[in-house]
Amino acid sequence: MRLNANWKLVISTICRAFVSPNACATIPAENTGPEQHGQVDNDQNRALLLAFGYPVVEEFLARRVRAAQIASIARLTPVIILANVVNALVVTLVFLKFVPVSYVTVWLIALGGLMSFTIAKWISARRDPIETASRRALDKAVRHATVLSLLWAVVPVTAFASGDPNGIWISSCITTGMICGGGFAMATVPQAAFRWVTILYAASVISLLIDQSASMWPLLFLLTSYSIVVVGSVTVTGWLFASHFLAEAELKQRGELIALLMNEFEEKASDWIWETDSAGNFRNISERFLHASGRTRSELEAMRMVDLAYSLNNTDAREVVRTLQREISLQKSFREVVIGVSVSGEDRWWSLAARPVYDDHGSFTGYRGVASDVTEARRANALIAHLAEHDSLTGIGNRSWFLKQAELLRSEQFRSKQNTLTLFLIDLDNFKVVNDTSGHPAGDELLKQVANRFTAIGEGRISLARFGGDEFAALGHFVSDQAAGAFAQELVNITRKPFRISDRDFAIGATVGFTRFLDRTDTVDDLMRKADIALYKAKESGRGRALAFESEMEREVRERRELESDLREAFEYGKLSVEFQPIVDTRSGKVVSSEVLVRWYHPTRGEVPPNTFIPIAEQAGLILPLGSWVLKRACSAAAQCPDLESVAMNLSPVQFMDPNLVESVSSVLEETGFPAERLVLEITESVFLRDLGSASEKLQKLRDLGIKISLDDFGTGYSSLSYLRQYKFDKIKIDKSFVDEIGDRSDGLAIISAVIALAHNLGLEVTAEGVERQFQVDALKALGCDTLQGYFFGRPDANPANITRIDNTDWQVEGSNQQSDEPFSARSAS
Ligand code: C2E
Ligand code: CA
Ligand code: CA
Repeated sequence: MRLNANWKLVISTICRAFVSPNACATIPAENTGPEQHGQVDNDQNRALLLAFGYPVVEEFLARRVRAAQIASIARLTPVIILANVVNALVVTLVFLKFVPVSYVTVWLIALGGLMSFTIAKWISARRDPIETASRRALDKAVRHATVLSLLWAVVPVTAFASGDPNGIWISSCITTGMICGGGFAMATVPQAAFRWVTILYAASVISLLIDQSASMWPLLFLLTSYSIVVVGSVTVTGWLFASHFLAEAELKQRGELIALLMNEFEEKASDWIWETDSAGNFRNISERFLHASGRTRSELEAMRMVDLAYSLNNTDAREVVRTLQREISLQKSFREVVIGVSVSGEDRWWSLAARPVYDDHGSFTGYRGVASDVTEARRANALIAHLAEHDSLTGIGNRSWFLKQAELLRSEQFRSKQNTLTLFLIDLDNFKVVNDTSGHPAGDELLKQVANRFTAIGEGRISLARFGGDEFAALGHFVSDQAAGAFAQELVNITRKPFRISDRDFAIGATVGFTRFLDRTDTVDDLMRKADIALYKAKESGRGRALAFESEMEREVRERRELESDLREAFEYGKLSVEFQPIVDTRSGKVVSSEVLVRWYHPTRGEVPPNTFIPIAEQAGLILPLGSWVLKRACSAAAQCPDLESVAMNLSPVQFMDPNLVESVSSVLEETGFPAERLVLEITESVFLRDLGSASEKLQKLRDLGIKISLDDFGTGYSSLSYLRQYKFDKIKIDKSFVDEIGDRSDGLAIISAVIALAHNLGLEVTAEGVERQFQVDALKALGCDTLQGYFFGRPDANPANITRIDNTDWQVEGSNQQSDEPFSARSAS
């Protein structure tokens, strides 16, 4: 410690201590404020003044300083006593030769009394060490020094006065020794030391004056310089003592404050403080730490943090131990290191933060840090992570997990320069049926079983995920197209086997589209898109199959997308139109009805046939607004044509499945004022394939309104006849393919004949479509077909009035002309 001397203050303090050692109740003016002295100076000055008993610190601290000052002298009591006894013995032996026994005896009794008193004080202080001391205790110490020094001052004065050379010599030695020894012994209480030195110095000076010999001046000079050295040393020692004490007290106070804060901190938070020594062993273990560790204090004291971290045998935990070990071995600060600890058999996780601690010499003394139990947070996080990556129903991965996994495998693949990664998209085929007929719990159960089967066949080979609904995805390595194809087929096959759900068997099946990672520029998105295209194509070509992606498919799909957006635009900007194609009564030859056909003229593609864009409209969710627009246009146009008995309008299966179909049709009829009796709705068999249960009811509702229902494209489906028995229709339309066969195949006519007979039996009207030639007209007429439609009679026309104006004698005349069998393209009304 460096003592920064403010000399003025030092000297004035020393002087004041000499003049009146007890008058230090007030702080001297020299201890001025911070404007003159920096903090260090202030502390040093404070220490100096404190050493001399000035109340420059709070009384409690001052009392402790005094106690320490006195205790420091008291510690030397045995030595002081011994020195006094030895000196007294020598003095007695020498002085008895020239001083009366009675004087010596009195002196000895006085000295003995004082020594006894000192010893008694010392013993009591040892038994009950004092912690604090009042200013009076310091005064007592000064008085004690005064009395003792006065007793010893007698010795040189007596010796010099008696003139005994032996006495002079011995007393000089003793006095010099006493000045130095006593001064140093009492250095922690400078006032007492000064009093001691002053009295003995004064006695020496008096003695020298008594002697008046030639050696007086050199001796006086020596004595003075010794005394000054002692005074200086005492000042410095006392000052240092106080200074040390102050620093220590401050440290302690700070420590107490820290402890207080720590307790406060520990009480409030779930965290606790931990500390280790340089070997890593715990020390100063807090109650909270003990509690958290589930161990006893002695167990903990024999452990290091690393040992605790090793107590949990778990791969995650093992990994962190290494991190922890590394940080500690490098004596680095660390934070958020989460270690696993086995606490009474339970897995707990602690988050640690700590920094190395060094002593004043810069050597490492251990770690001090904070720990908090993050087990609950970790559990919650793990749960969240699990939920974020897994499908809650089936327990397999979810979409986001799958995409991450795909990204990972793709980059691995990219590095390894292999082309084995294959992505499968799987769509269940009849899942909706199960869901609709047996309820959602059955649907959920089915999905679980499907996931189990996929997991079982893909075990170890694939990463599996559910994307939601009935869509699944798989990702794996397959060495060849064949291997990938075989696995895709396996996926399809496994879903074909019936699923047993609450005592019922369900057959569903699946459609798979897959793609292999062959193009190295492909991203995961590209792979997904390609597999999706393949899946789309597989569905389009009849489901229940697996299809690999081919680049050709992409072009088709792209084109389709373009078409879709063009269609949207065309519809929005009113670029679609409707045309009416005449339907002619076979017997009268009159135009009795017409079929409404939607038209789209594309600025670059030209005429886009409805067979192309209607399915797109269906998939794009555009068919409902489009359909009702067509109906509105048709009805309002036909309302202006009273000659037209009826208007037939095509309903796609999607339109038919619309739960609001009946309402929207009747609202259009109301709006346009078109009578329901004049409206025919043409539906195809596919309606019955997709709709479950409500079709019959819906048909009935429409018929109740007065609308007629026609079964379009009759004969193209699988079970047209059975539908005729099952549902109520008003008409059937024999498909063009049968009409085309008239004359080509002998059984063509037979089939048409049978159909017409059957329909008539059921009370249904029969229309034949796609009639292009005279001989077809004749044949159909002969078979009793009710109405005919085809280019022979007229092409679709934008104006319904035009078709009613067609001169029916045209084809009746032609009709009698059996020679003509050219397609009647030129007869179009337009
Ligand atoms: P569809 O209901 O069987 O309509 C008859 C189709 O045959 C029409 O084709 C018509 O132009 C065509 N056609 C009529 N007579 C002849 C003929 O003598 N020879 C030949 N080769 N073809 C003939 P288009 O207009 O291309 O319609 C195709 C299909 O598009 C329709 O088949 C119908 O299913 C659907 N469609 C047309 N308009 C609509 C509509 O407004 N809504 C819905 N949902 N579907 C429509
Ligand atoms: Ca039709
Ligand atoms: Ca048709």
